[in-house]
Amino acid sequence: MDENIHPVRKISTFFMVMAMIMLVLSVTALYQAIEAYRRGSLDLPSIMLSGGALALSMYMLIQMRSKPLKLGFEMPKVSTTIECLNCSYKMVRKFERGDYVFKRIGECPKCKGEMIISSIYREVEERGR
Ligand SMILES: [Zn+2]
Repeated sequence: MDENIHPVRKISTFFMVMAMIMLVLSVTALYQAIEAYRRGSLDLPSIMLSGGALALSMYMLIQMRSKPLKLGFEMPKVSTTIECLNCSYKMVRKFERGDYVFKRIGECPKCKGEMIISSIYREVEERGR
């Protein structure tokens, strides 16, 4: 699962750096436009342009910050099916770290037989919402 998350993080870090550079450039441009205004030459288009770029880069940074969090919540649910070897009693629970197929889980609540993990699967139901 970690392999799926990695490229997304790399891309957002790249765009974050790009947005930061854009932010610095637009602040510089805005500062220069204000300086020019102080010296008596009103350069309204460049003030508006740099102000717009500043707003856009800030918006981009805010968007990027919220994305990794969202991804965390949208992770697919993984379930583990546990089966009794003796009476084939089945139960399903949330996947836990360290679960693997044929792992011994413990005693069956019905017949005290041995219980193992019979399957691990991803739930796809959530996408319909
Ligand atoms: Zn059993």
